[in-house]
Amino acid sequence: MKILFAASEAAPFFKSGGLGDVLEALPAELAKNKEDEITVILPLYKKIKGNTALALSFVTSFSMPSPLSEDYVGVFRLKWGKVNYLFIDNEYYFCRDGAPYGHGDDGARFVFFSHAILECLQHIGYYPDIIHLNDWQTAAVPVLLKAFYGALPAYERIRIVFTIHNIEYQGYMPYDFAANVMGLPCEYHDVMRYGDSVNLMKSAIMLADRVTTVSRTYAQELKYAYFSHGLDPIIKQNEYKLCGIVNGINTALYDPKRDKALPAPFSSTDMSGKAICKASLQEELGLPVRDDVPLIAMISRLVSHKGLELVECVLDDILSRDVQLVVLGTGDGKYEDMFRFAEYTHPDKMKAEIRFDSALASRIYAASDLFLMPSKSEPCGLSQLIAMRYGSIPIVRETGGLYDTVPALNTETLSGRGFTFQAFNAHHMLDAIDRAIAFFHDKKKCERHRRALVRYNSSWRASAEEYLTIYKSLLA
Ligand code: ADP
Repeated sequence: MKILFAASEAAPFFKSGGLGDVLEALPAELAKNKEDEITVILPLYKKIKGNTALALSFVTSFSMPSPLSEDYVGVFRLKWGKVNYLFIDNEYYFCRDGAPYGHGDDGARFVFFSHAILECLQHIGYYPDIIHLNDWQTAAVPVLLKAFYGALPAYERIRIVFTIHNIEYQGYMPYDFAANVMGLPCEYHDVMRYGDSVNLMKSAIMLADRVTTVSRTYAQELKYAYFSHGLDPIIKQNEYKLCGIVNGINTALYDPKRDKALPAPFSSTDMSGKAICKASLQEELGLPVRDDVPLIAMISRLVSHKGLELVECVLDDILSRDVQLVVLGTGDGKYEDMFRFAEYTHPDKMKAEIRFDSALASRIYAASDLFLMPSKSEPCGLSQLIAMRYGSIPIVRETGGLYDTVPALNTETLSGRGFTFQAFNAHHMLDAIDRAIAFFHDKKKCERHRRALVRYNSSWRASAEEYLTIYKSLLA
C-alpha cells in the first residue's frame, strides 16, 4: 500500500505538541512493513528550509490557480529512515518569523497547503492509495479532492482517513471563505457550512471515508457537547465511520537507557541512574538537592484544557506540602505568570521554565517522581506515556486517553499505573496528589512500581496494526 500522511507538523522537523510526535512515530512504525510505502507531506516552514543539516532535494515547481491569482508551489523531498518526506514550499505562506501557527491568515495558509498536496501528486506522478489527514489544518483536502480532482481516474481511487487529534481547533472561517479563498463551486458550500461559518473539520468528518481519533474513550466523549466544542451532532451523524485508536510513543527515542539528554542512563533492571538524574536536575534548576522530597513535574502547553484552573485553585496548598514542583511549558500568559509568581514566592520548591525545550523535557521526565496531568479533556496525551517510560508515576484526571492509558493504581497489589481522580475538582486533584506523595514515601513499593512503569509497553506496534486494518478495509 502507498500511504500519504498529511499534517502541519512532524518531529524531528517541527513539533509544537503531541501531533508532531505522532507524525514522527506512526509513519516510522508502518514503514517497517516492507510491502508498504510511507510518505509524509509537510509545509516547508522557515525553520526547516533554513536547516542546512537537512539534505533536502528539489523535486519540481509549478503554479497553482487560486481564486485570487496563481500561487507558486515548490516541492522538496527527503528520505528520513524508511519514510519519504515531501515538503511544500511557498515563502509567502510558510517562510515567516515566529511560530508556524497563530497567524491571522492560517485558514488561507492551510487551504493552500491542502490544495498543493493534491495538485503536486500529478506533477510528481505519485498517487497514494490512502491519504491520512490530521486535524483541521489538512481538513480541506476531502472537499478539494471531490470538487477539483474527483473526475480524474488516478485520483478517484484515493481513500481518505481523517484523524481528530484535538476537536478544540476546528478551522472556523467566515462563510464567504468557501467561495473566496477555497474557490469552491456552490454545490460544495453546504458541506462546508456549520452555523453561520465555514468549518473545515466538519467538512472532513462528513466527507472522509473513515474518521479516527486518538483513544477509545475520546471517541465516546466526542458524542457529548461537553467535549465536542459544538460538533457532537456531526460526530453522532458519522458515528458509523468513527473509531478510537490509542496513540503510542516511539520507545526507541523515548528510552531512558539511550536518551543522550540524560546525565545518567537507567532501565527497569538498573534504576540507579534515575537518582542521579534527579540530583542533577535539582542542581541545574537551583532547587535543594534532596532525594527524600517528591519531585512533581508538569510538561505541557499552558492552556485551559490541560486542567490549569485546578492547579491555580490549589497551587498554594500543593506548595505547602514538602514537595518540589517543576513546570516546563508555554501558553496563556495568565498561567505562565501564575507559575513565575509561585517560583518567586517559593524559590526552594517551585521552578517555572517557560519555554519549549525538548532536551530539558527529557531531563525533567527522568528526574521526576510524579507527573501531574489533570486535563479537563485529553484526546490521548503523550506526556503521561513518556513520563511512565521514564519511571515517573502519573497523576491524571480520568478522561480521554488518560483514562485508557493510566488505570488507577491499587497501592496494595500494585495493579494499575497511576493516581487518578474523576471530577473536574481541584480538591479531588489535591487528594490524588496527597495519595501519590504518601506512596512516594513507601520506598520499596514505589521502586517496584517504577520499574513496572519503565517496562510497560506503550509502543506503536498494536495501534499501527489497527490503522493497517482500516486502510486495508478501505481498499478491499
Ligand atoms: P498536546 O499534543 O495536547 O500538547 P501531548 O501530551 O499529546 O499534548 O503531547 C505533548 C508533547 O509535547 C510531549 O512530547 C511533551 O513532552 C511535549 N512538550 C509539551 N510542552 C513542551 C515544552 N515546553 N518543551 C518541550 N516539550 C514539550
